[in-house]
Amino acid sequence: MLTDNSNIQYRFSDLIDVPAFARMLENFFQATGIPNGVVDVDGNLLSMSCGNNACATFHRVNPEATERCRDSNIAIMHDLRNGHVAGGLCRNGLMDYATPVVIEGQQLATLFLGQILHTPPDMEFFRAQATQFGFDEKTYLKSIQAIPVIEKAQVESLMTVMVDMAKMLANCGLIRLRQTALEHDLNEHAERRIQLEDILNLSPVAIGWSNGENRIEYVNLQFTLLFGYNLDDLPDLETWYRLAYPDENYREMVIRPWMKNVATAKTSRTQPPELEVNITCKDGTTRRIVIRASWIGQRRLVNFTDITDRWISEQRKQAHDTMLEMVAKGAELADILNAIVRQAQSEDKTTLCSILLIDEEGKHLLSGAAPDLQTFYTEAINGLEIGMGVGSCGTAAFLGQRVIVEDIQTHEYWKPYTQLAQKAGLRACWSEPIRSSRGKILGTFAIYHTQPKSPELEDIERIGAAANLASIAIENRYAYEELERRAYSDYLTGLANRRFFLEQAESELSRALRYDGELSILMLDIDNFKLVNDTHGHKIGDLVLKKLSDICRNTLRDVDIIGRIGGEEFAVLLPETGSTQAEEVAERLRAAIDSTRVSLDSGLPLHFTISLGVTTLFDKDINIDTLLNQADQALYQAKNSGRNRVCSYHVTNSSSD
Ligand code: GH3
Ligand code: MG
Ligand code: MG
Repeated sequence: MLTDNSNIQYRFSDLIDVPAFARMLENFFQATGIPNGVVDVDGNLLSMSCGNNACATFHRVNPEATERCRDSNIAIMHDLRNGHVAGGLCRNGLMDYATPVVIEGQQLATLFLGQILHTPPDMEFFRAQATQFGFDEKTYLKSIQAIPVIEKAQVESLMTVMVDMAKMLANCGLIRLRQTALEHDLNEHAERRIQLEDILNLSPVAIGWSNGENRIEYVNLQFTLLFGYNLDDLPDLETWYRLAYPDENYREMVIRPWMKNVATAKTSRTQPPELEVNITCKDGTTRRIVIRASWIGQRRLVNFTDITDRWISEQRKQAHDTMLEMVAKGAELADILNAIVRQAQSEDKTTLCSILLIDEEGKHLLSGAAPDLQTFYTEAINGLEIGMGVGSCGTAAFLGQRVIVEDIQTHEYWKPYTQLAQKAGLRACWSEPIRSSRGKILGTFAIYHTQPKSPELEDIERIGAAANLASIAIENRYAYEELERRAYSDYLTGLANRRFFLEQAESELSRALRYDGELSILMLDIDNFKLVNDTHGHKIGDLVLKKLSDICRNTLRDVDIIGRIGGEEFAVLLPETGSTQAEEVAERLRAAIDSTRVSLDSGLPLHFTISLGVTTLFDKDINIDTLLNQADQALYQAKNSGRNRVCSYHVTNSSSD
């Protein structure tokens, strides 16, 4: 806002060219003979045109006459307070007039006229006065005769004219002064605007505002630095929305509803809600932004806080979690690696990424994931031999170091592949080795650009994070294999679990049936095992189970399949084994256990025994369940006949010790 100058005090000399005004009054005096003068409100005499008049030469020289002058002046000044023209006859016999020069209610100066006479002078009065004050009669009377004789009305109109002229000049001066003040103010204002702009430009937050007609009036420097757009790119809000949110659906689903909320907030005078969005920058990259809008009159002020870094680390964490979940759920490694590549690409949409995996020999790179690279390119790269100067990835895997190639077309590492890269539209390739937790090179993660480009710090971070993620995924694939192994074996004894035993037994049976081979099955169960648990505790029970397993492994052949098919029940499949042989094996096993002692912490040796049931394949129309059932029946018999013994299943269902 401009300053209101109406209350500022001016001096008459500020408004009027005083010497020029004084010259004008002198001319007036020369023309009319009317003496005049101007005194400003501070009492400074600004002009005086009076010649060698009676007052100055005689009255003011004599103290008594001066006293009379002063009396007259005081009376006139008193009258002046009431404004307009004040005048009076001084006791020296002459008329004095005064009128204030008032500009906008403020008196700036007083114009005096005088002395004059309204009627021709009474020479006897003045002769007497000359005698009284001792004036030289001849010169005194001559000066009295020179005093202009003007009618009262004429004096008043003359004074009005003169004061009007003074006022007019003063008003001109005032206008000029105001103009100057205005200009000064404008300059200051401009200065202030520049300062505000400086402050806005120094702000780390991007700021912009639009007016009531949705025209963008201002964006600060940070806005341009952040998004790349300047005010010329953004005439109105619609243009901004189209550029910032190129996806029409996104505009409809996310931006417009928010706009409505912002508009509602204006009428309800509440704070509009914040919005977290992805904004597409002029260079095609995306930034994660929190937008806050507020209303200042019709203007919508918006600030944009860049949370891209925080967002990316959250996204990475999320990608990490997703990847682990995929691993846990048994997703294909290729799918996991594709997800990692897509995540890296989403962080910088101007990039294309790929993962290559080292083959078992450790000599070649195989396609791992490259969902958006052209197929002819990935096919050409597949099987690339690792070595110095074999593109970015071959070299990175060879050196075990990150390799940055800013321009494929000129870099020596890419000499053999420039045409291939050109055809695929690839110009820069940065490759990071993927290392296992033990430092072994598992493959490479590459970021490609379609333009020559060197990485920024955040690119190095991104490539590192992606390589790390890929490493976890690849390492976990092997640990997966570990899970698979666990899925087949029993955790306590390391023997085949029930499922795996049945699987293997099934295939052994079919082989035996196919080749007319022999096959026997043992079923064994610890005697009074409950007692072991109850007396010594479950842990000792486990120890007994492990001991039993070890004895089985040591006593039986490698080709025999041993399975823990229940808590303390075991089954053994003996390929190429007839009934007699199987009974011998069973007995050997029983005896081995019977002679074993498990040493306990207490120092006391623990003795345990097993009972066994034996069955042998004799019927071509038999399945594994039936065989196991037969062995189980024999075992039941062994238990019933006193435990710590072997019983065989016979077709007649008879048993033998
Ligand atoms: P029997 O001679 O008739 O076989 O008598 P038993 O006491 O052995 O009876 P049974 O075979 O029915 O008992 C099985 C017991 O084995 C019950 C359970 O507490 C124990 N057991 C099963 N699995 C485990 C295991 O993994 N560890 C331990 N410590 N005990 C187990
Ligand atoms: Mg049992
Ligand atoms: Mg038992």
